[in-house]
Amino acid sequence: MLAPHPLITDELHALAEQVMTFCEKEVRPNADEWEAAGMVPRETLRTMGELGMFALRVPEEHGGLGMGPVASAVFAEALGASSTMGGFDATVLVHTDMASPHLIHSGTDEQIGRFLPGILTGETITAIAVTEPDAGSDVAGMRTKAVRDGEGWLINGRKIFITNAVYGHLVIVGARTDPDDKYGISMFLVERDREGFEVAQKLDKHGWRCSDTAELVLDDVWVPAENLLGTEHRGFYEIMKNFQNERLVLAAEGVGAAQAAIDLTLEWVQTRRAFGGVLWDKQGIRQRLAMAQAKTDAARASVYQAAWLMEQGKDATKYVSGVKANALEVVMEVMYECTQFHGGMGFMNETPVNRMYRDARVNTIGGGATEVMLEEVAKRSIVA
Ligand SMILES: Cc1cc2nc3c(=O)[nH]c(=O)nc-3n(C[C@H](O)[C@H](O)[C@H](O)COP(=O)(O)OP(=O)(O)OC[C@H]3O[C@@H](n4cnc5c(N)ncnc54)[C@H](O)[C@@H]3O)c2cc1C
Repeated sequence: MLAPHPLITDELHALAEQVMTFCEKEVRPNADEWEAAGMVPRETLRTMGELGMFALRVPEEHGGLGMGPVASAVFAEALGASSTMGGFDATVLVHTDMASPHLIHSGTDEQIGRFLPGILTGETITAIAVTEPDAGSDVAGMRTKAVRDGEGWLINGRKIFITNAVYGHLVIVGARTDPDDKYGISMFLVERDREGFEVAQKLDKHGWRCSDTAELVLDDVWVPAENLLGTEHRGFYEIMKNFQNERLVLAAEGVGAAQAAIDLTLEWVQTRRAFGGVLWDKQGIRQRLAMAQAKTDAARASVYQAAWLMEQGKDATKYVSGVKANALEVVMEVMYECTQFHGGMGFMNETPVNRMYRDARVNTIGGGATEVMLEEVAKRSIVA
């Protein structure tokens, strides 16, 4: 059960319980197998779809539950707290909170009608392709181009580190459409089976091993005009806008995972013996775990504060950026401590805390590196 919080209503606690029960039964026992395969089975994602887990943020008029950022934070925290597998959480959260929201926010009725039913059932898993070999933190530096071609668009370029793009079905691709404007980027709905769309490489990673991560080549990929998503040349701003939600769920997942790692470590130190007693008897260990808990609690409180600000419809960029930076650095510290107190077992791949330590590493890099987040805070800190 998630710790109480004034924003977590009975309905949201029930959602968290559903997610955590699902992960404990259907996800956690398969961790080693899925991590070795580098893939989350599609039937697991379809089951989540059938259970309504992909419908939280979808407006009621489109068959969803019409919930807000607080629900996303609860969902992400519950995943982090129960799956012990960041790669699984990433697979799900990229679909629910990073890629598909673009369709809901910017899609036409026709596009929503075409793709949303599959997104809700888990038949259509989504990806968002922004990062390129020469443009990561600096999104406006992207070089992938889309030019008009007859009744559609021709897209050419390369993308890298794209989650869900090996086994997913629909990739939302950012491409430059106005060569004269640094921010002249548009988004396109690209079905994975389009001619010229190639997975150049399934990438091998330090953590998040069960999530599929692709290097993509788009070689004269033609899409019809009705696959342009949102307003032409305005994609950069749409991508930036949804980054707030992306950063919120990454931070929420991270604090959930940190809590799970602390709980596993508490169990371990109460039974593992050294120097005539259990590890818990050592004041140094107790206090460092107490500090890990205090920092996790503070990070969690900031995550829900960010979710609340977003739910009010306020511009939460400065606050969310600070939370993304701070909370996920805290999560790294906590994972370090938990691994340390597991001793040699903490270094073994079979130990969940080892996996969680590796998985946490990407969170200070992906979705906006800590330094980039701090720039977002800094530039909003000086009043002209
Ligand atoms: C496992 C994984 C999954 C991913 N999934 C996706 C996905 O689904 N879709 C997608 O589009 N992208 C995805 N990414 C890409 C991710 O968002 C980028 O890796 C991230 O934005 C950083 O970009 P970069 O790797 O090009 O690093 P760079 O931009 O080259 O930056 C390198 C480092 O320099 C520092 N730095 C950068 N800018 C500044 C600055 N202004 N001030 C100070 N320091 C700075 C930071 O420490 C940063 O980590 C994924 C990445 C990984 C590793």
